[in-house]
Amino acid sequence: CAKQDRTGVVRWTARTGLGRRADLRQLTELRAGIRAGHLRLHYQPLHRAGCRTLNGTEALVRWQHPQRGMLPPGVFLPDAERSDVILELTDWVLAEAIHQACAWHRAGRGMPVSVNLSAAYLAQDRAVPTILALLRLEGLPASLLTVEITETAVLARPDQAAARLAEIRAAGIRVAIDDFGTGYTSLGLLPELPIDELKIDQSFVLRMHDSKPHAVIIDSVIAIARALSLTVVAEGVEDEPTAAALADAGVDLLQGYHLGRPCPAENVHGRSWVSPGEA
Ligand code: C2E
Ligand code: CA
Ligand code: CA
Ligand code: CA
Repeated sequence: CAKQDRTGVVRWTARTGLGRRADLRQLTELRAGIRAGHLRLHYQPLHRAGCRTLNGTEALVRWQHPQRGMLPPGVFLPDAERSDVILELTDWVLAEAIHQACAWHRAGRGMPVSVNLSAAYLAQDRAVPTILALLRLEGLPASLLTVEITETAVLARPDQAAARLAEIRAAGIRVAIDDFGTGYTSLGLLPELPIDELKIDQSFVLRMHDSKPHAVIIDSVIAIARALSLTVVAEGVEDEPTAAALADAGVDLLQGYHLGRPCPAENVHGRSWVSPGEA
């Protein structure tokens, strides 16, 4: 389904129907990079909206490329997600994030770590057994892991996704719907979904002060989350007025440059909240 030109750039036509250019050479290099230990995780803090204590982190992947430097996921993830490289990448991310969460847990900073899972990873029957094996290997309580699935991934196969998410939650792992508000979820689907958390997409947060409709959507998401007893997280919080407004509106957790940028694990500081019985 792909035609390769002299530069190694491939045009995927049959597969995506969009003629999007995928860089096969980079993909091959990425696979080698994963095996050579060139991936890194940066962790971005999530703070409680009221008291602003650290309440967890989100693991975000980077590629420490020997020549091109530290590459953000936007450069390599889209191609990885169109191939099975995403499966190997996600296996690495899960192992590394769970290992780090366990180090924090042992140091008395028992806070949840969130990992992004793509639809293809979730579609595998081995997804949940693999995650459970990693938790057991490190001895991490399942409640200290949150998996983030985008709204779009859930929408692609709602029944299949719901069954898998139920399996994850039954194991005690938390489930968050990422980028909520961008995927046109039928709201009727929400009460059926086995989830714990809604993450309001940053596109709404970034515009809440200059666009009334965006602010109204945020308020509606908070109301829906309350009605369904879900934790609500706002992403893309870049300044204090936004943080204060979201806290007033009833958001539970804040994430964004104002609270902290993604950084290596050793730079994650702040007073962390430890749930009783987990310290
Ligand atoms: P996301 O899951 O929505 O992650 C949040 C993105 O927003 C991160 O970009 C983060 O650095 C950025 N961000 C955080 N705070 C702010 C803010 O205040 N303002 C603005 N403008 N941006 C902010 P990053 O790290 O480049 O990740 C981009 C996307 O790549 C992620 O979006 C996620 O969809 C994907 N991704 C990252 N790591 C992984 C991974 O390990 N697995 C999978 N499947 N996807 C990943
Ligand atoms: Ca995410
Ligand atoms: Ca997000
Ligand atoms: Ca996003």
